[in-house]
Amino acid sequence: MNALLACAAILLPVTAQAGSISGVRVDGDKVILNFDGGVKGASAFLLDSPRRIALDISGARPGNNSVAHGPIAAIRQGQFDEATARVVFDLVRPAVISEGAFAADGTSLTLSLKEADASGFKAAVKQGRNSFDFPAANAASPPRRTHGITIPIPAPAKGVELPRVSGPSDDSRPLVVIDAGHGGHDPGALNKELNAREKDITLAVARAIKRELLKSGRVRVALTRDDDRFLVLEERYGIARRMKADLFISVHADAAENEDARGATIYTLSEVASDREAARLAARENKADIINGINLGGQSNDVSSILIDLTQRETMNISASFAKLLQREAAPYVDFRTAYHRFASLVVLKAPDTPSVLFETGYITNADDVRFLSSPEGQSKIAKGVAKAVEIHFARQLVQN
Ligand code: ZN
Repeated sequence: MNALLACAAILLPVTAQAGSISGVRVDGDKVILNFDGGVKGASAFLLDSPRRIALDISGARPGNNSVAHGPIAAIRQGQFDEATARVVFDLVRPAVISEGAFAADGTSLTLSLKEADASGFKAAVKQGRNSFDFPAANAASPPRRTHGITIPIPAPAKGVELPRVSGPSDDSRPLVVIDAGHGGHDPGALNKELNAREKDITLAVARAIKRELLKSGRVRVALTRDDDRFLVLEERYGIARRMKADLFISVHADAAENEDARGATIYTLSEVASDREAARLAARENKADIINGINLGGQSNDVSSILIDLTQRETMNISASFAKLLQREAAPYVDFRTAYHRFASLVVLKAPDTPSVLFETGYITNADDVRFLSSPEGQSKIAKGVAKAVEIHFARQLVQN
């Protein structure tokens, strides 16, 4: 996977002479896009819940937004990467692309939509990406291969030194990156009464997990931070990506107004939050970057929410199965909430190629939980559960390969 990504990064040239999308028009069951030139090709895929079409146009920049009507409920445009504009069409009802064709001069693309039933739509989602042939005479360079490898490549976090790797010196051993949430001027959630700060708990738990993982001698381990420092969210998963980590675990402690709320929860990435509580949690955890006055890569929520692509979907599936495993293996040591696995749009989990979970280890606002989380005994219990899950996870991966 990482080799593919490296490839994709090289294949994405910075196009100085990119054209722009000069218009998007909906005409009956047809969607017509016009370009100022510079376009090199296009491909599209469908996404479910909510149902929409994502269209990637290489060599283009986003242009004017158009009014949606007919089968299209809304149209959004964004810069997907340096060389590609993405247009997302929210669908009023299930529809699939029956045909997509460029004009002979390459200045427009027409998509024909066909109504589908729910199962027909699901089948089309599964099919993945479809490329539309660009007229050969106008193609300045061979069309880019787009099969499932066009993914957003976040700029590498500059200036952050990579942490030390502990464990066996054998590079073929899986690398687990443990991320202690918050730090520095961002304390995270607080329990003022008991004088507990999330950033201290997460660091202690992360260190305990590292110690436990190293006991087995089977995995290599690195911590995103091993002291009280602030890292923006992008740096946290950026570290994991740059180190080509095989698993990323971000450690946190939850907070609630209700002091009785307690228990651990595991979050994995989704564009759509599993419930209102998950959405609130994402808002709170994602705020870490705003604290530092950093806009998340300059992307509005609207645009960043469409950046989840197929490669990321595969990673999301692995993350979700690790979440289940983590609960199963840690349950003898740690109390979980009944709904222990939730989905949320968490920035720290957005590495497209690293299976990632965010582990809310318990509630700092609950007296029992905070005692457990602050004690070396509690921390080592959490670590034991994580280590067991990690071991089984990589054993499974080994069998699958
Ligand atoms: Zn947190």
